[in-house]
Amino acid sequence: MTKKIVAYKALPSDVEAYLRAHAEVVNIDPKNHAAFVEALTTADGAIGASIKISPDMIEGAHRLKALSTISVGFDQFDVQDLTRRGIVLTHTPDVLTESTADTVFALILASARRVVELAEWVKQGNWKASIGEACFGVDVQGKTLGIVGLGRIGGAVARRAALGFRMNVLYTNRSANEQAEKEYGAKRVELDELLAQSDFVCLQVPLTPETRGLIGANELQKMKRSAILINASRGPTVDENALVDALKNGTIRGAGLDVFEQEPLPADSPLLAMKNVVALPHIGSATHETRHAMARNAAENLIGALNGTLTQNIVNPDVLAR
Ligand code: NAP
Repeated sequence: MTKKIVAYKALPSDVEAYLRAHAEVVNIDPKNHAAFVEALTTADGAIGASIKISPDMIEGAHRLKALSTISVGFDQFDVQDLTRRGIVLTHTPDVLTESTADTVFALILASARRVVELAEWVKQGNWKASIGEACFGVDVQGKTLGIVGLGRIGGAVARRAALGFRMNVLYTNRSANEQAEKEYGAKRVELDELLAQSDFVCLQVPLTPETRGLIGANELQKMKRSAILINASRGPTVDENALVDALKNGTIRGAGLDVFEQEPLPADSPLLAMKNVVALPHIGSATHETRHAMARNAAENLIGALNGTLTQNIVNPDVLAR
């Protein structure tokens, strides 16, 4: 019987053609929640991103064998529940690592050198004389970068920092990253020490119950007043109200943010009115090349999972052992 796949995100045409060569593909706009849930009841697989798929949405999806997210993060899924149901969840690590690390570095440089703020200032016609101290930023090269969660993306950030910018790299992880220690001189420390010593604190942990709210008022208080917080992980790893207070009160110098508690960021967010904040619309992996590679990778993961041939990029390999 021909397999049925629900695509809940627009896919590049060649990727959609690849899927259609293997299965029937139904395109669904997930904003139409009822139609999405209905389509899942007769689907063998689904592919998409950025939409929470909760257990109640797949209650009637008795044929569902595989879900493929076009992302490395899988916080939109209840993995335990999927495993219990025997549904394979696949994701797209590695293909987005370098692009996301570039975004992190763009945030570091933009925040430190006030690139966005001063570019706007020029466009508004304010550049009338040679600039003075009021337009100065702070150095990036040679400073200390603290990476909270030094995995694939954190490692690519560490490489840029250590080899390109001669920065000292500190990190926290539950386990040591020996490669980063050897190749980039990264030093594993406790979170408190990382917060106290870093000029840039960069979050790259996945969003899990343990990392939700990892950086709150207490942690911000432990950072240097001159430090900049960079978050390109997931918004809820930082307590956003506490961050707003810290930025207002000068507890820290600034923030470079790609992710927020609520996305899109509401127009009345106090963060938007702050000169010491660079806010991006969750563009971590958003280049033409990388988004295409992610879609292709996710499509191959899905077909491989449905055919029972996939051996990598599986979030819950326990399903296969059953
Ligand atoms: P990864 O290779 O799994 O790295 C995550 C690191 O966090 C690991 O080194 C892990 O080390 C550490 N960690 C610390 N505490 C943890 C905890 N409680 N649970 C799990 N890990 C913990 O993942 P990645 O590919 O670098 O991606 C990291 C995250 O970046 C993704 O999950 C995603 O949310 C985010 N991301 C954002 C964008 C964007 O557009 N802004 C793009 C891509 C990814 P230990 O296991 O030793 O603790």
